[in-house]
Amino acid sequence: MKPETSVAGKPRFISSVPWNPQHPDALVIHCGYFPYQLQIDDFVSKGLGLVFDRFAVPGGAQFFVAGGVQYKYKMADVPRVKFLHEGHKFQQIICIADAGCGWYADMLGKNISQEAFKQRQIDDLVKARSVITAEFQNLSVRLFFAQPNGDGWVEFEEII
Ligand SMILES: [Zn+2]
Repeated sequence: MKPETSVAGKPRFISSVPWNPQHPDALVIHCGYFPYQLQIDDFVSKGLGLVFDRFAVPGGAQFFVAGGVQYKYKMADVPRVKFLHEGHKFQQIICIADAGCGWYADMLGKNISQEAFKQRQIDDLVKARSVITAEFQNLSVRLFFAQPNGDGWVEFEEII
């Protein structure tokens, strides 16, 4: 961020990142939990080399497969993703689930093993890919599971 300037007595802050109106390569859909945010940016921009739009909501891509009382999220968020796609013309969607996701913890309760918890997230990612493929022809979809690796870093495992 550039130093604060003042115009007519109102403080202004100018980002040190230049304005870049190019269309993104991808839309990244992930959860809103902060401890993964900077790592997701790093992974997608440097690891995958993509310029991307972001759609961050609790539970990430879970809304694509939401049923029952959660169906309203699917009804709200799928049109939002379509809106972004129509305007921004990205070629792929990347869905990233986060280990220990609070949205899933709330949904699944406490009586579930860590393995079953993760498996449910992965199953939902795979189902979400089917929904995305049906809703958005000609878009490629990649799925990743993010988790701390035990050494203080976050690793991204691709779900094939
Ligand atoms: Zn989460």
